[in-house]
Amino acid sequence: MPFGDGTGPRGKRRGRGRGLGMGQGRRMGLSTQGRSTQASVIKIDSEKCVGCSKCVAVCPTGALSLANGKVKLDQVRCKGCRVCVGVCPTGAIS
Ligand code: SF4
Ligand code: SF4
Repeated sequence: MPFGDGTGPRGKRRGRGRGLGMGQGRRMGLSTQGRSTQASVIKIDSEKCVGCSKCVAVCPTGALSLANGKVKLDQVRCKGCRVCVGVCPTGAIS
């Protein structure tokens, strides 16, 4: 008995559905986050500084310290919040 072996072309046509994402390569804009390395946003007039350390106490980043009775600024740490400006009794910080 002849077997009807029904061999037919079973070619699966594979579409070109290549699951590539949209390839959008979005660039993350590098926002400048106040990291200026230039002169700091605050200025200290050491002539006016009386070394009371009020500014040192309020600075949230520890950018201020006292050295030889005068305040010293670490510009790298300073984030420019200007809190220190408001507490200085002699107006040494501007
Ligand atoms: S501006 Fe802000 S971060 Fe900079 S020294 Fe003054 S208190 Fe500190
Ligand atoms: S608050 Fe003013 S006077 Fe006092 S340490 Fe700071 S800069 Fe000097």
